Amino acid sequence: MNKAYSVYVIGGGASGLAAAIFAARAGASVTILEKEKKYGKKLLRTGNGRCNLANLGPLDGAYHGRHPEFAREVLAHFDRERLLTFFEEIGVHTRSYDGWLYPASESAESVLACLSMAAEALNVRIRTNICVKGIRKSGGRFLIDVGTYVYTADRVILATGSNASLVNPGENEPLLIAAALGHRIIPIHPALVPLTVKDAAARGFAGVRVRGTIRLYADGKLFHEESGQLQFTENGISGIPVFNGSSEALTALADGQRVTAEADLFPDMPEDVFISYLKERFERLSDRKPEARLKGLIPDRLIPAVTAGEESAEACARRIRHFPMEITGSRGLANAQVSGGGIDTDEIDPASMASRLVEGLYITGECLDIDGACGGYNLMFAFAGGALAGMAAGEAT
Ligand SMILES: Cc1cc2nc3c(=O)[nH]c(=O)nc-3n(C[C@H](O)[C@H](O)[C@H](O)COP(=O)(O)OP(=O)(O)OC[C@H]3O[C@@H](n4cnc5c(N)ncnc54)[C@H](O)[C@@H]3O)c2cc1C
Repeated sequence: MNKAYSVYVIGGGASGLAAAIFAARAGASVTILEKEKKYGKKLLRTGNGRCNLANLGPLDGAYHGRHPEFAREVLAHFDRERLLTFFEEIGVHTRSYDGWLYPASESAESVLACLSMAAEALNVRIRTNICVKGIRKSGGRFLIDVGTYVYTADRVILATGSNASLVNPGENEPLLIAAALGHRIIPIHPALVPLTVKDAAARGFAGVRVRGTIRLYADGKLFHEESGQLQFTENGISGIPVFNGSSEALTALADGQRVTAEADLFPDMPEDVFISYLKERFERLSDRKPEARLKGLIPDRLIPAVTAGEESAEACARRIRHFPMEITGSRGLANAQVSGGGIDTDEIDPASMASRLVEGLYITGECLDIDGACGGYNLMFAFAGGALAGMAAGEAT
């Protein structure tokens, strides 16, 4: 006779909730253990409360980690069509804004409510205020230590996310649990995070927002170029184009490379056209001081830095189009939306999220060494991996 497995899901976030629903659908008896008083807290903050839950755009270049192809493999095994079907099944109708998918309700709270109702209908037990301290295997079963009690499970799904954006990120204890089970941990770094820049404060740019393009270089080699709104902060640069290059920038810095940036502060025209325009403009406004000739073209606060005492139109054009900065680091995990690094994906099967080292253990979501671009890529990976883990862990033999 087939046996229904007892599956324990550690972490009641996006990935853990999806995993629990799919494991229960497969016939398992499912319990979620969540350390916080309420589950799904991070999900509620996503997309400024609107929950950008997936993206229909290209997957190439959208994920980082030692093995970014792992994310693409996961999304080949549980593709976007299946994900949208799942959302619709649980009541979440999605809407695309240039490929960025949101619930039609525009409410993260409603996404969490739909996940909760689906889990409840399948008799998933959700135990909150329970922090898992350790997991070990004995006699083919898992012993889950929560300090005051030890739960016994046939199968375990680790979906503990990351410490990114927490006020006191501290040590990521679940990674130590994975390490104790034999998994390799790739060092954690912030991702989707503002970058810090040498001498930024001295330039007085803080608070300036400009439509522009950022180019990031590691030891002189271009690795990221993206246009959009750039935001200058007290000690660096921010905005989606910067966020999306931050993971690679911090990996390169950690590898000892010199990371530099170039901001194009006026990307509206081809560079040769811009130089001609600036020459004509400088002649036309020649009765003004050099700095005043740029007034009305770029934000005032950028003008002293881009002119830097130069009077010629060519020199100003060059600094406006290639404004140089040296990247020194980031605003840290507390200011990051996600973390890079985590459990090495080499040791996980992307078809089932099963550990290749510990039978019966599945690992999914942001605790893995994968981080995605802005636009719904992180939740998409968390939901898809959760679905695969749940199906595999819940399947009776
Ligand atoms: C402000 C903000 C906005 C974001 N917006 C978006 C967006 O719009 N689109 C997008 O794709 N991504 C977004 N992200 C990223 C996205 O939220 C995460 O990548 C995603 O939530 C990861 O899901 P997860 O289930 O792996 O982890 P989480 O959602 O973090 O869930 C992990 C859960 O595990 C619990 N846990 C941890 N340790 C233990 C333990 N020892 N015992 C028991 N429970 C434990 C945690 O309390 C948590 O509830 C955003 C992130 C932030 C911070």
